[in-house]
Amino acid sequence: MIVRDILAAKGREVATISPTASVAEAARILTERRIGALVVTGAGNRVVGIVSERDIVRILAARGAAALGLSLTEVMTRKVVSCVESDMISAIMERMTAGKFRHVPVLDGDRLAGIISIGDAVKLRLQEMETEQSALRDYIQTA
Ligand code: AMP
Repeated sequence: MIVRDILAAKGREVATISPTASVAEAARILTERRIGALVVTGAGNRVVGIVSERDIVRILAARGAAALGLSLTEVMTRKVVSCVESDMISAIMERMTAGKFRHVPVLDGDRLAGIISIGDAVKLRLQEMETEQSALRDYIQTA
């Protein structure tokens, strides 16, 4: 299975935010949309970073309530690991495990084409395992 298979099922919408937005604004959007990360986009919709709930917890622990007023440029991760639609899901899961993050934006050239979360990847893997298991069961019963 490849990234395109997940996007075909879940859609290509990506929640984005400006680098000049505040930590409070990012927390509000994450909560409202019930998601774990926002892709930070700058001029021309180019990806300039990613901010996840983990970044917000970290900055709140370090700076207290004053962190809520900081701009995302001070808390986001700038070196974003991305993927393309033809990447294998197994490779994306390895990348997430090695980098200890749970979100990978999908790029089509410079354009943001979707996002894969660890939850999306696990859901697809479970479906694959169920399909394999039922094929094996059918095979045993007819053998
Ligand atoms: P997460 O597990 O996605 O909540 O993110 C954990 C940490 O990794 C946070 O500091 C994020 O900013 C960062 N992070 C999340 N996704 C990525 C990514 N695709 N590339 C680089 N860093 C990321």
